[in-house]
Amino acid sequence: MTVAYQLEEAGTRLSKTTIERRPLGPRDVRLDLKYCGICHSDLVAAGDKLGGGMYPMVPGHEMVGVVSDIGAQVEGVSVGEVVGVGCIADSCRSCHSCESGDEHYCETGFTLSFNSKDRDGRVNYGGYASDYVVDYDYLVSIPEGADLARMAPLLCGGITVYTPLKRFNVGPGTTLCILGMGGLGHLAIQFANAMGARVLVASRSAAKRADAKRLGAELALDPESEELQAWMGRCDLILDTISNPHDLNQWFPLLRRGGKLCLVGVPTDQLQVFPALIVFGDRSLEGSLIGGIADTREMIQFAHAHDLGAEIELVQPDEIEGAWHRLHEGDVQYRFVIDLESLSRDSGGAS
Ligand code: ZN
Ligand code: ZN
Repeated sequence: MTVAYQLEEAGTRLSKTTIERRPLGPRDVRLDLKYCGICHSDLVAAGDKLGGGMYPMVPGHEMVGVVSDIGAQVEGVSVGEVVGVGCIADSCRSCHSCESGDEHYCETGFTLSFNSKDRDGRVNYGGYASDYVVDYDYLVSIPEGADLARMAPLLCGGITVYTPLKRFNVGPGTTLCILGMGGLGHLAIQFANAMGARVLVASRSAAKRADAKRLGAELALDPESEELQAWMGRCDLILDTISNPHDLNQWFPLLRRGGKLCLVGVPTDQLQVFPALIVFGDRSLEGSLIGGIADTREMIQFAHAHDLGAEIELVQPDEIEGAWHRLHEGDVQYRFVIDLESLSRDSGGAS
C-alpha cells in the first residue's frame, strides 16, 4: 500500500490518501521514500499554470529512498541501497538526445516522475508518498554517508544549475554572476565555488547577500547599487535563476565579449530583450533545462566530494501546504524537504 498526498483537481488542497503504483516490472525498482524536496515546479503543476495537468496528482520529483524490491532484470542495484530519482522517470532511449545522455531533451518526449504518462499510458504519481517505482536506468546512486535530506533537492535544483556550469566550462579563471539567491541560486554558488570560479551574486535581500558570501560568493551585490558598475564587461557567464518577471537588459552589459546569459528560472511571462545589447557585444541568451541522468549521477558525486548540499527546512507531510504557501512568498531558506518517515510507517513499510 502506498500512502500519498494528492490533489483531486488543479488548485485543490492536498489530502492524504492511498494510491496504487504500477506492478513491479522486470526492470523496475521499488524505493521506500525517505525524503522528497519541494520544488517551485510542484506549485506550478499543482496550480496547472502551464496547462496539461493530470489529476488526481501526487507531486514530488526530488526523491531519496532505500531500495526495497527489484525486478528480475535489474542489474547493479540491490535491496537496501540508497538511491534517488529526479525529474526524469523514463525516455525513449534511442533518439539522438537520449543516446547522447540528454534524456531531458528526448525527441519523443520524456516521462516526468509525476504529472506525466509512462510509456504504457499510466499516469505517474510523484514523491509526496511512502514509496516509488521506477526503471533502474533512471536511478541515481547516493553515496554512503551523505546527508540524505540535503541531497534530495540536488536531484532537480542541483542538476538544473550544474548542467549549464558544466556546459559553459565554469572553473578557474571564470567569472560568474548569479542572479537570484533562492533554491537554485544558493546551490549555484556552492557548485561554482567548488569548481574554482569567481562568483558574484546579485540579490535585493541583505540577509541573502550575507548568506551568499557564507556559501562561497566573493561578492554579493544589490542590483540597484553603484558597485555593479565596476563589473561591466567582466563576466563570462550570468546564470539567471529568477522565476519572476524581471529586466534582462540591465544584466547584458556585465558580460564580456562573447559572454552568455543563461536562463534556468522559467518566468511564465514574456521577457523583453533590447537586441543591441546582444549584437554589439557578441553576447548570447541561452536556456538550460535540468540535465541528463549521467550528469545527475556525476553531480551527486561532485556534491558529496565537496561536502555541499541544499540548505533545508525539514517539514512533515501535514505541513506541505504551509511550506507551499511560504515558497510562493519566497520565504524559505533555501529549500523545503519533506520527511517521509511517518508515511512509510502508515503504509506498513519496513521502517
Ligand atoms: Zn524541480
Ligand atoms: Zn529519446
